[in-house]
Amino acid sequence: MNEATQQTVLEKEGASQEKRTYTAKAYAATSPIAALASATITRREPGTEDVEIEILYCGVCHSDLHQVRNEWQSAMPTVYPCVPGHEIVGRVVKAGRAVKKFKEGDLAAVGCMVDSCRTCRSCREGLEQYCECESGATLTYNSPDKHLGGVTYGGYSENIVVNEAFVLGVSEKLSLAATAPLLCAGITTYSPLRHWNVGKGQKVGIVGLGGLGHMGVKFASAFGAQTVLFTTSAGKTADALRLGAHEVVLTKNEAEMQKHAGSFDFILDTVSAEHDLNAYLNLLSRDGAMVLVGAPEKPAPVAAFSVIGNRRQLAGSAIGGIRETQEMLDFCAERGIACDIELIRIQQVNEAYERLLKSEVKYRFVIDMASLQ
Ligand code: NAP
Ligand code: ZN
Ligand code: ZN
Repeated sequence: MNEATQQTVLEKEGASQEKRTYTAKAYAATSPIAALASATITRREPGTEDVEIEILYCGVCHSDLHQVRNEWQSAMPTVYPCVPGHEIVGRVVKAGRAVKKFKEGDLAAVGCMVDSCRTCRSCREGLEQYCECESGATLTYNSPDKHLGGVTYGGYSENIVVNEAFVLGVSEKLSLAATAPLLCAGITTYSPLRHWNVGKGQKVGIVGLGGLGHMGVKFASAFGAQTVLFTTSAGKTADALRLGAHEVVLTKNEAEMQKHAGSFDFILDTVSAEHDLNAYLNLLSRDGAMVLVGAPEKPAPVAAFSVIGNRRQLAGSAIGGIRETQEMLDFCAERGIACDIELIRIQQVNEAYERLLKSEVKYRFVIDMASLQ
């Protein structure tokens, strides 16, 4: 066999290998009202460019709850069974023949995306989360699975197989469990703060002290901004100051809110439930921007005068691209920044969801996947 023929045969073998599958243990929801429970799912055998990761920790994002309960019905309807989880860290157990960045035994992470078209303008610019192809980026769960059909299954599982282009490198310097939530809560706050050039000399507000909010506070203060936390929970004041906030405002206190009118350069809204956006827009100074990353189920009314005065901007932001996610992970490793977490067993995940709804998380639940028996 000459070399060219041999190459063709190998590629064909690679392609057929991709259709081979194995089963994996997971936790899944079978309907919007069902509790998450053990399930068995199918994963593809790693192809030539794939990495198989044994999942050690997976963060619990409020998006998991929205998706499991089909709260984003109109934008992203849930396909059941749904295996959530997009804050994944673990160890590489297999690497395909063409994989360059990872080898067996390496630490690795996967965030909210596992693929995209890789050719559109956004993908070429490293903004895969805004992939312009018809189906958009392939999200880690509840997205059409290009390999096996059906939908993708996320990190509440013992392992995952992902093309290496969407696998991130993780430093040994930080606690692995406290690194997991960086893959969504971290990048979702880091990316807009960087995009809007938040830094020294600016007054920045973070709304909500949950998974995203506590990372927003850490990043905004690490970037040198005067950081103010807005919270509905009086009991979180001391923590917010410890996490890096310079000031804490209780949003129920109108006089305190009023004191800050027209004074903010930038506000990042991480709130997961219905709330009044106008109250925060009115705190922006001229040309100030408020960016929504929180994704409540119901739309919120915006008064034109909240943005007309002071030429204010209201915008949104989705996670972050692969290149920026790696930049954020490297920044965190260098600066010793990780998440404040409460480690849980997977059997506690339904209870954790109830606590998320009561804003009772300090500040991210992370599942120890060793508990998945
Ligand atoms: P989380 O941990 O539950 O935190 C949300 C925080 O919002 C709560 O801790 C609470 O903070 C505040 N809050 C809750 N209900 C409220 C209400 N009714 N009024 C005012 N404040 C309220 O959630 P998370 O995981 O950080 O996620 C936050 C949101 O971001 C979710 O909607 C999630 O789906 C979305 N998200 C978006 C992206 C993206 O790419 N844009 C990525 C990830 C997540 P206080 O107790 O301090 O008030
Ligand atoms: Zn998330
Ligand atoms: Zn694309």
